Amino acid sequence: MKTYISLWPPDAPDAPFPRRLAVLGSTGSIGVNALKVVEEHPELFRIAALTGGRNARRLAEQAARHRPPVLAVLDDKTAAQLEMLLPAGYAPEILVGPQAYADIAASTESGLVLSAIVGAAGFLPTLAAARAGKRIALANKESLVIGGRLIRRACRESGALILPVDSEHNALFQALCGHADRNGGGDIARLILTASGGPFRGRDAAFLAAATPAQALNHPNWSMGAKISVDSATLMNKGLEVIEACHLYGLPEAQVDVLVHPQSIVHSLVEYVDGSQMAHLGVPDMRIPIAHCLCFPRRVTLDMPRLDLAGVAQLTFETPDETLFPCLRLAKAAFAAGPSHPAALNAANEAAVDLFLRGRIGFLDIPRLIEAELERHEGLDENAGPEDLLAVDAQARRRVIDSAGTGLS
Ligand code: NAD
Ligand code: MG
Repeated sequence: MKTYISLWPPDAPDAPFPRRLAVLGSTGSIGVNALKVVEEHPELFRIAALTGGRNARRLAEQAARHRPPVLAVLDDKTAAQLEMLLPAGYAPEILVGPQAYADIAASTESGLVLSAIVGAAGFLPTLAAARAGKRIALANKESLVIGGRLIRRACRESGALILPVDSEHNALFQALCGHADRNGGGDIARLILTASGGPFRGRDAAFLAAATPAQALNHPNWSMGAKISVDSATLMNKGLEVIEACHLYGLPEAQVDVLVHPQSIVHSLVEYVDGSQMAHLGVPDMRIPIAHCLCFPRRVTLDMPRLDLAGVAQLTFETPDETLFPCLRLAKAAFAAGPSHPAALNAANEAAVDLFLRGRIGFLDIPRLIEAELERHEGLDENAGPEDLLAVDAQARRRVIDSAGTGLS
């Protein structure tokens, strides 16, 4: 399962600048930060495509600045709004519907794809980019959770590269580069993912039972989209990240540990067999890992305050509480259980988070609903294809919505 070498062969061809970049999910939190990096270094990029879901206004404003020849949105209504908002004299092709994202990901018009759609909707576009041999800056961790095996195989066959945008995995990548290129990754003892602990760190069960969406969305260190913010509050984000790390670095979940670090300065660590731990530190700003991926191996300046360790003064670490926050345990169990269990876990989580955000279920119902779905799930074998995994996804969502309707909380 040694994929470290296959996802970033040390002898991977360098990609010349300016790079032709397609941003999938440009209107989201990661997308907006990526375009800030691009705007700081416009000479390094040509924007080949921008895509949004239903946010026509923001996509129009981004498109007017970057003038890509292709845009994509989810439905005809958004496309019509977008067309009205574009400046005179600029008439890009506007693609509509889920297939458009995969088409853009595979298009020969770009060499570099930022995969930053949220949730399972990012899976097929990421797989399409992997099959097309692209250099992929991957923010959409859900795609590896759902179909990590398929994406890894596609990378091996096509020569596609995955560069991890997720801050912890980017930190691991930086702590691995130049250290684990030999011995097929065998020098690695374990990976240590840091977690802020989210907005509910240290709270008790009574508080969690009554926690509201507004409280869950109020993350102490990072400003992110709604879904990942709730995932941070339940620790499912870290659970998904354990699975993401297993796929990226070819290690079993037993070799991936989680350490709560409330200051979010140490972004993760690699421990080598001799006991050395290599860490990556930085201010919590996603432009750092985004720029690292978009420009790799070049490093570029970023307009932000430097990390001032004397100012931070204290870095603290603690063990996560897997009893109060069972999502971490559920994710590890799903990865160990079989190839399709993570897809069921991910879909159950997305459905439960959506119900929570709409006030339909309580915070503690999220892990309960996911656990019930994992118990029901009849696992597929490793020959499961993308359609099979998407069927698992659809079934899990349906069952979570049905069981939530039968009187939880
Ligand atoms: P977000 O909700 O802010 O943005 C999501 C983007 O996807 C938007 O452009 C939206 O229009 C688009 N989108 C939503 N549903 C879609 C659909 N069905 N089809 C096509 N496009 C759709 O999310 P985000 O916080 O930017 O997160 C994006 C991804 O990056 C997630 O997978 C998340 O886990 C990951 N990530 C985010 C952060 C962060 O700091 N925000 C950090 C690490 C990883
Ligand atoms: Mg992360």
